[in-house]
Amino acid sequence: MKSDGCFYHSIYYSNFALIMHELSIAASIVDYAAEFASEHQATSISRIEIEVGQLSGVITDSLEFAMEEAVKGSVLEKAEVVIIEIAGRSECKMCHTQFDNPDWYTPCPNCMAMDAEIIGGKELLIRSVVIG
Ligand SMILES: [Zn+2]
Repeated sequence: MKSDGCFYHSIYYSNFALIMHELSIAASIVDYAAEFASEHQATSISRIEIEVGQLSGVITDSLEFAMEEAVKGSVLEKAEVVIIEIAGRSECKMCHTQFDNPDWYTPCPNCMAMDAEIIGGKELLIRSVVIG
């Protein structure tokens, strides 16, 4: 049986993610995958894609390591786990320039203001799950 899921599922809202440890996030991803598999009468998942924003508070390397542990004995045991890093993006509140902001503290490259709104990179999402 093969069925593709292509959808967005929010694991945690971004602020909550800041206080979550990667291991518990990995455990939640495994729980979600198990639920998804059972909803589709599947016993295993062959691929899962996870989007991690640069500003989500999650370290991708730590999450990768945590996933290696968390998948053992789960529906994700044989799955290819793909972690996609999403760049941090900001919009300046003064001149509305949009720019890359990998660390929260990058000033506006146009007017040097520090007052910017984060418009991307706080994601922590499961992008897709492939059953099989
Ligand atoms: Zn600006």
